[in-house]
Amino acid sequence: MIKTKKEYSGISVSQGIALGKVFIFKNFSLDDLIFEEIKIENPHLELKKFKAALETCKSRILNLKDKVNKDLGEEKAQIFEAQSLILEDPLLVDEAERLIKEEKFSAVYALAKTLDNLKLEFSKLEDEYLKSRLKDIEDIVINLCILLLEEDNNYKDKEPDFPFILAAEEIYPSWTAKFDKNKILGFISQKGGYNSHSAILARSMGIPAIIGIEKIKGSFNSNDYIILDALQGKVFINPKDELINKYKEIQKREEYKKQARLNFADILTKTKDGARIYIYANIANLEDLKEAKKYGIDGIGLLRTEMMFLEKEHLPSEEEQFNWYQQIFKEAYPISVIIRALDLGADKNLSYLNLPKENNPALGERGIRLLLRKPEIFIPQLKAIFKASQSGNVKIMFPMVSFWEEILQIKKIIKNLKEELKHKKIFFKDIPLGIMLETPSSILLANHFAKEVDFFSIGSNDLAQYTLAVDRTNEKIDHLYQPLNPGVLFLIKTALKAAFKNKIEISLCGEMASELESLPILLGLGLRKLSVNPAKILEIKEAVFKINLKEAEILANKVLSRKS
Ligand code: PEP
Ligand code: MG
Repeated sequence: MIKTKKEYSGISVSQGIALGKVFIFKNFSLDDLIFEEIKIENPHLELKKFKAALETCKSRILNLKDKVNKDLGEEKAQIFEAQSLILEDPLLVDEAERLIKEEKFSAVYALAKTLDNLKLEFSKLEDEYLKSRLKDIEDIVINLCILLLEEDNNYKDKEPDFPFILAAEEIYPSWTAKFDKNKILGFISQKGGYNSHSAILARSMGIPAIIGIEKIKGSFNSNDYIILDALQGKVFINPKDELINKYKEIQKREEYKKQARLNFADILTKTKDGARIYIYANIANLEDLKEAKKYGIDGIGLLRTEMMFLEKEHLPSEEEQFNWYQQIFKEAYPISVIIRALDLGADKNLSYLNLPKENNPALGERGIRLLLRKPEIFIPQLKAIFKASQSGNVKIMFPMVSFWEEILQIKKIIKNLKEELKHKKIFFKDIPLGIMLETPSSILLANHFAKEVDFFSIGSNDLAQYTLAVDRTNEKIDHLYQPLNPGVLFLIKTALKAAFKNKIEISLCGEMASELESLPILLGLGLRKLSVNPAKILEIKEAVFKINLKEAEILANKVLSRKS
């Protein structure tokens, strides 16, 4: 419990103040797993867990084998047969069991130690084939460790029964399912970026959050009382009463400002010179929708469906999805909902899909790329949306589109799907189809793409990441993540021009739309439809009323002509 510091600073990714006890969520990285020597008290129980992990791992491999057999043939499926045999190999299994029983090591550490010894033995071998088998063993060990960890990581029942500030090395979007959201007062983490999906989530839930804290492990203890000042990016550990009282006052003032803004909920949003600006909301679930509706919105500009998938332990069936979508469409009606097809990949991963690891996931099989390769995910989602479309005013949009062929493929899939539904006499509405403009190529080709789709939505979060080649989830280069860089603004302007020329709707649903600093610049570039985090709707509405469009245009041109 040695503490050298009482104060830490980081990057504030969701503004606000929180005071309360901290709860540290230990999500070990694989390196920690492998090198951390953990002794256990009950080897019998540990062996049971180990055996259960072997079984689960085996059945996952055999499922994969069947699938590969069907898709790619028997020869390729043999790889998985060989992998499943490793799970019975005494060199691995017996040795790990021995270490658990005799040395009282945790199953994870026993596996890691066994793997280390095998590596040593294999390095003495001449046979290249045998050496290459080591990679397979390593792969299996990693999978087993992850399974064992998931088991240990079921913190649901360990979560405090009072409101707390969640601290972890890294916070993942899927954690919304792990904790009772109503109890989370704030987030602090070591890793992440301003536009990582967890940060976005924190902002949309209105939960203060700071990332880039130098070190979580060893700096905080669960139950430390902290002040999280996410207005200035500061964290104070076990502060004096004087400071606590000062922050309680600031908190009260912030709350008062929030209440005062409620006046903007019932009025149409216009600039100082009378131009109508449409304010939509970005939502991830029904609660967000209900929250956003309180502030008076013109529609839902982005329904991120991946959050529903992330909260489940299995791929939701068409029926489950139908129920979820229908509920949201009904609750939103008569306002429109732009629902986005599943956008997986990069920092949004579903463990139950067992997707292979990629070296460069942000440039990998993300969004539409994955959906087109996995019709077993794409088609049920589309069907569920079409079936539920009767209950509302719905539009669908597709993430990460970069190629013309992707649009043609999407349209063909939808045409077939509509024919099937008609044939089965299932009613549906004719849903407008749109794409996200979030890769530079999609904007450079927007003039062509506009002829094939009904609307565009600019995804400035990814657009900035891909234009500037700056990983949105990496806190080390967070200072380089600049959506207001003239390069990004030039692309936004190009997108707007393409949409206006082809007379299709265009909005912007990236985080920029929720930033006061970006607002006059975006309006000055010609944008009139913004999709905003629920927690920021009123602040943005209030700010629009203070903007004069002529001045905003001058400002936008000035920023566009800057070098950086
Ligand atoms: C974006 O990229 O701007 C966007 C809205 O999508 P997401 O943040 O979910 O990637
Ligand atoms: Mg995106």
